[in-house]
Amino acid sequence: MATEFEELSTPEHLIALAKNKGLETNPVNVSELARYLGIAVRYEPMQDEESGSLKKEKKTGNWIMTVNSLHHPHRQRFTIAHEIAHRIRHAANSDSFEDTTFFRNGDSNWMEAEANNFAASLLMPREAFEAFIENVSSKVEDVAMHFQVSSNAVRIRAKVLGYDGHNL
Ligand SMILES: [Zn+2]
Repeated sequence: MATEFEELSTPEHLIALAKNKGLETNPVNVSELARYLGIAVRYEPMQDEESGSLKKEKKTGNWIMTVNSLHHPHRQRFTIAHEIAHRIRHAANSDSFEDTTFFRNGDSNWMEAEANNFAASLLMPREAFEAFIENVSSKVEDVAMHFQVSSNAVRIRAKVLGYDGHNL
């Protein structure tokens, strides 16, 4: 089981790892990936504005991810990818992350912004995203269904990747 993640610091590294280990990558199975990284994933009902959390258990040193079980599975996937980003990139900065609505990022810090970008790249890798839009469909709903993410996540990803003035 992987314990040190320096070599896994980017979404691209994680996709390569997932492929290497035979995990689903089209689209990426983030809950399997989290478990492979040694993170326990739990689903619990929460307030709607809460997405999830990632915490290191003091006694055991184990990382526990909790996901809002009442959210749509596509939102849950983004939450899981976001928490994976915290584990991979921010574990040295904090051992507890509590996440509320991701896209209202007016008051979010650099770690939240980075975790959102990381999650979007993990769930919608640039090449796969561009290939889908080029070859299959540029409708937001189709892209969202293919990558199993929310329409909002697709729109933000499209903007980051420079799509402007299309359907997206
Ligand atoms: Zn966060």
